[in-house]
Amino acid sequence: MNFSYKSGIYWYRRDLRIGDHKILKTASQQCAAVFPLYILTAWKQQHQWTGANRQQFLCECLASLAANLNTIEGRLIIRHGNALDELRKMIIETQADVLYFQLDPDPHGKLIEKAVKVMCEEMGVKVHAEHDVSLHSPDEILTGGAQPYRVYTPYSKNWLAKPKDLPVTKISSLRTPPHISSDPLPTLAWWGLKPNNATTLEGGEKAARQRFHHALASRIGEYQKCRDIPALNATSRISQDLRHGLLSLRSIYASIQSANEAASSEHKNGIHIYLKELAWREFYFAILHYYPEVLESEFSPQWRGLPWDQPDEKLVAWQLGRTGFPIVDAGMRELLATGHMHNRVRMIVAMFFTKDLHYDWRIGESWFMQHLIDGEIASNNGGWQWSAGTGADAAPYFRIQNPWSQTARFDPQGIYIKRWVPELANISADKFHQAPIDGRPIATDYPLPICDHNRERLRTLALFKKHKDQQR
Ligand SMILES: Cc1cc2nc3c(=O)[nH]c(=O)nc-3n(C[C@H](O)[C@H](O)[C@H](O)COP(=O)(O)OP(=O)(O)OC[C@H]3O[C@@H](n4cnc5c(N)ncnc54)[C@H](O)[C@@H]3O)c2cc1C
Repeated sequence: MNFSYKSGIYWYRRDLRIGDHKILKTASQQCAAVFPLYILTAWKQQHQWTGANRQQFLCECLASLAANLNTIEGRLIIRHGNALDELRKMIIETQADVLYFQLDPDPHGKLIEKAVKVMCEEMGVKVHAEHDVSLHSPDEILTGGAQPYRVYTPYSKNWLAKPKDLPVTKISSLRTPPHISSDPLPTLAWWGLKPNNATTLEGGEKAARQRFHHALASRIGEYQKCRDIPALNATSRISQDLRHGLLSLRSIYASIQSANEAASSEHKNGIHIYLKELAWREFYFAILHYYPEVLESEFSPQWRGLPWDQPDEKLVAWQLGRTGFPIVDAGMRELLATGHMHNRVRMIVAMFFTKDLHYDWRIGESWFMQHLIDGEIASNNGGWQWSAGTGADAAPYFRIQNPWSQTARFDPQGIYIKRWVPELANISADKFHQAPIDGRPIATDYPLPICDHNRERLRTLALFKKHKDQQR
């Protein structure tokens, strides 16, 4: 076989798979030897944007990736430290002619990429970097005037209509030579974190594929009907797999298309709505790409400088699921117990945080990032800004969800609530649909609501209105 290069490094980042991996496949075709590399970051104990749940999942994914690479004559090389330093060392050790990697959607990752490209140029090493985190890169989905969209619906129409790439074929061999040393695969101890045994989800590419195919075969047809009911296992549960690149969007899309061909018209509808959710993910990547300032400030300029309250003891009540609002507490406890929270409940707890407690969405955003296994900067920021009423295609500020009526609508029998708030296991579900009318806690050891939703709703309306008027 004729190769263009003797030696190439594949720098793994958030694409921890070997299947349908376009850039790794190119590396395998262009290089006589490919060195797959993962660099572990050096932070310890605490990180504003991640925590034990996600890192535990990452450890499992790396172990699985190492095993998978062995099946294609590859060997995962782990290095600890700063990306730039470790890449420089690896380039020298392997005498690499070329460095391959998938472009990162996050501003921090992009900054590192910039420095890496400069370094490679100085060292005379070629760089092959491509977008592959989503089906369409942000610059593929633009308005007729070649502008980025600011609103989801027209974005999604354009996204749905665009032709999609087919999966790439299996990689046969990476031919990684044995002489380059690797640090051990990480455990949580590397970051000084303790496991909280949160997730029951298995990491790694094979488990992710099984999760997705099982969901597609058994649930996605009914997605439209059931996705908003948190007590049901009605969604696909693949967000952490997409976050870590265990699944490729090309393969997912191809499987969805085949399922669609065989589906009844009702199921076709469910599949269509599911596809639109995947488009939300890509919409938020596009927003972060074109408007990276959303990480610091409100997407909608009119809401910058809103006077949020200083956090007090109510913040801890929210974090620990002790607010006295059963649906909010169930969601926050599900998050602590599993590193996951149902989408409907994410909206409820985030709106409660910003509209009932009047706290700055950035604080809630960071708490989610620390605990979610699927913590994804773009979607998390998008979801928080949507809920706060400050984001792209946001719920307008005057549309404030009432946690009591949301419960009556989406968890009428309190099945989800009772699962996560054991103190309420024997309480009649109608008690979860309104604040206690007699002013007494609905169960022993369960707190009274920490605020009055109706009063706080009015306060939010007044705060937003005043701010709006001041902008004129
Ligand atoms: C406040 C808030 C914070 C959020 N933070 C995150 C986050 O950190 N990471 C994350 O992946 N999602 C986040 N979401 C979106 C959504 O809650 C999760 O993607 C979803 O709950 C994951 O479960 P699932 O895989 O079963 O989703 P499904 O319902 O099966 O949807 C399939 C996939 O579509 C994508 N998707 C679905 N809904 C959304 C959405 N509203 N926005 C963006 N993508 C979506 C996800 O990739 C998801 O895996 C957040 C939503 C809110 C309201």
